[in-house]
Amino acid sequence: MHIFYPDYYKDFRCIASDCPDSCCKEWDVQVDPESARRYRALPGVLGDHLRRVLEDVDGETIMRQTPDRRCPMWRQDGLCEIQANLGESALCHVCSQFPRLRHDYGNFVELGLELSCPEAARIILASPFPATFCENLTVGTVPDYDAADMEILRESRTAAHSILSTPSYCLGEALAALLLYSYRIQAVLDGEECLPFHMDSALAEAHALAQTGSMADIFALYKTLEILTPAWRQLLDATPVTQPWESHHIALARYFIDRYWLQAVSDLDLVGRAKFIITSCLMIRALPGDPLRNAQLYSKEIENDADNVYALLDAAYTSPALTDVKLLGLLLAES
Ligand code: SF4
Repeated sequence: MHIFYPDYYKDFRCIASDCPDSCCKEWDVQVDPESARRYRALPGVLGDHLRRVLEDVDGETIMRQTPDRRCPMWRQDGLCEIQANLGESALCHVCSQFPRLRHDYGNFVELGLELSCPEAARIILASPFPATFCENLTVGTVPDYDAADMEILRESRTAAHSILSTPSYCLGEALAALLLYSYRIQAVLDGEECLPFHMDSALAEAHALAQTGSMADIFALYKTLEILTPAWRQLLDATPVTQPWESHHIALARYFIDRYWLQAVSDLDLVGRAKFIITSCLMIRALPGDPLRNAQLYSKEIENDADNVYALLDAAYTSPALTDVKLLGLLLAES
């Protein structure tokens, strides 16, 4: 069994009190059962504090947030009270792992970082073309998906990265081609023949299909989703901006492809994921203000809320703002 990770994965270090946001803010921290048992059994002041703030809700144990929506164990100096007293090894599973991502596909594992952490976002956006490292592991499980489907997805994801890297095309054109490519691979997943894909002819087709799209309509769609923070609501109320595609957008597109392309093995909906990837890039580019902060906040609001991700996968087929022809229009508007 192999474990894959991008070259920057092992560079991540939490910047704690220097963090401009915090993973200890606005989210409910879910405490795994073993940690919850351990915390509730602790003696002294720390144990008393934990027994007061741990709450069982719908079969899960969470940390009850403070009135200003912080984790109750967060201290004014930006450190965690549990870590400060008992060390990093005492953190619950979620806190010890965040922002590290682990996708376990049974006979191989992929690791990454979550864009919703500001420091991870800084690293990801600075790495448009990260190298992938691979290590051998002895353990693994028998996958519960069709191996042939996974093979198609892994090969096509490599091709998707090549599409993004085609030097003579801007990212908008590359993403337009990627949308058409996802239909080609969707057909293969659906049992049809694999036809060759040519970038030039795909782009000619994309230009022929493209119709005027509206970022304001996409902003309006996002306003119908669950919203966690006032800062995000404020961004969605703003007027979308037009910005050139830059290298950090390539890094974003790669990040989203790495994170979502293979997940199509669960339901064989690759086109929905390709549209989610493309819409995410369009959204982050159209938000006014600091691109790094916007990408991080986007991830915190959308990627870290499974209901929002599912709503967008659904909207890929149902929302008039996300039709293929309008997405192509938005992607090709400046080319
Ligand atoms: S969001 Fe990231 S950098 Fe900030 S405190 Fe959490 S892990 Fe550290």
